[in-house]
Amino acid sequence: MPAVSAPAKVLVSGANGYIAMWVVRTLLEKGYSVRGTVRSPAKGAYLTNYFRSYGDKFELAIVDDITKDGAFDEAVKGVDAVEHTASPFHLKATDPQELIGPAVNGTRSMLQSILKNGQSVKRVVVTSSVAAIVEPRNAPTIFTDKDWNQASLDEVEKHGKDATAFAMYRASKTLAEKAAWEFYDANKGKIQWDLVTICPPFVFGPVIHEVDKAAALNTSAADWYNTIVNEDNGGKPDELLTKQVSCWVDVRDLGHVHELALAKDAASEKRIIASAGPFTWQAYIEAAHKAKPNGLPNHPKLAKGAANPPTAMQINVDYDTRTVTEGLGFTFMTLEQSTKDTLDDFEQRGW
Ligand code: NDP
Repeated sequence: MPAVSAPAKVLVSGANGYIAMWVVRTLLEKGYSVRGTVRSPAKGAYLTNYFRSYGDKFELAIVDDITKDGAFDEAVKGVDAVEHTASPFHLKATDPQELIGPAVNGTRSMLQSILKNGQSVKRVVVTSSVAAIVEPRNAPTIFTDKDWNQASLDEVEKHGKDATAFAMYRASKTLAEKAAWEFYDANKGKIQWDLVTICPPFVFGPVIHEVDKAAALNTSAADWYNTIVNEDNGGKPDELLTKQVSCWVDVRDLGHVHELALAKDAASEKRIIASAGPFTWQAYIEAAHKAKPNGLPNHPKLAKGAANPPTAMQINVDYDTRTVTEGLGFTFMTLEQSTKDTLDDFEQRGW
């Protein structure tokens, strides 16, 4: 199976994003060369400076509109592998197409460009999400790589612009990942590469992309910051603090999983669910108080937490992660470690 390893050259799309910056950094640290795409030279300047110690092992490519046919035609030339991370993640969409358009067309245009000009490409990794997997269920459920989120597609189909912002986002990730697998299956006879998708749950942890203030953080890191570094729990009611509804992964671990997805034969044609485990906000709040008993210098009072938290977490949603833990041999860091490191990062930034 066509795995690649350092010093291979990897194209990373959306390289200035929260997750992608860690992917690029991990690859460079492991000896790969990286070509990172951003939408404009201005967005690339920070990366060029941040990765300057790697010299010509890091280079930029400008792709101003990922949805255009041929958008990546130049960027894919001469690379050994691709990590396609670029896709909108925000909850402000007022029309499903705002998210579905770039998610699906961006994925298709990348794969089309690889088909046309990516003769040296051996593996393509698409950053999907558990949003493409998870659906509401009446009983606690362990979701697997066989599951697909049909519920959000139905909701968006039924309600259109009145669907929830979460349903729009989840539909965009489901449709984009399906488009990747459909393209792969349709072209298998003509290509020399294999496909891997990575499905992370909520991604939290330290930030290395360009962000000058907490208010400008990306969606998942902003949610964490607003909840934890906020005396009133970011306005979340107690029920939301204590009910387990999702899982988490540290962004640095996710960077490593993106590297393993390239380097391991066992990753071939897999949907890799990269989840460290279930969380409640209350668990994060308790970990934050242990890590920083006096809060942060600019925020001495961290989230106060729920009034009467349960002693144990009732797990409602979890994922089968054996592909990454057993298949790729990866061990995720603890929630306590991730919390401490994230708060250290915020402290150093004076947030
Ligand atoms: P960020 O918002 O930090 O990064 C998103 C990246 O995608 C940026 O480089 C952004 O470019 C680019 N992008 C977004 N929309 C467009 C567009 N219309 N055209 C071109 N580029 C675009 O998000 P994350 O790092 O959190 O997300 C990265 C990937 O991981 C996404 O695919 C997301 O769905 C997925 N994911 C994220 C999770 C999380 O909790 N953070 C969980 C699961 C999956 P620009 O800066 O120019 O807008």
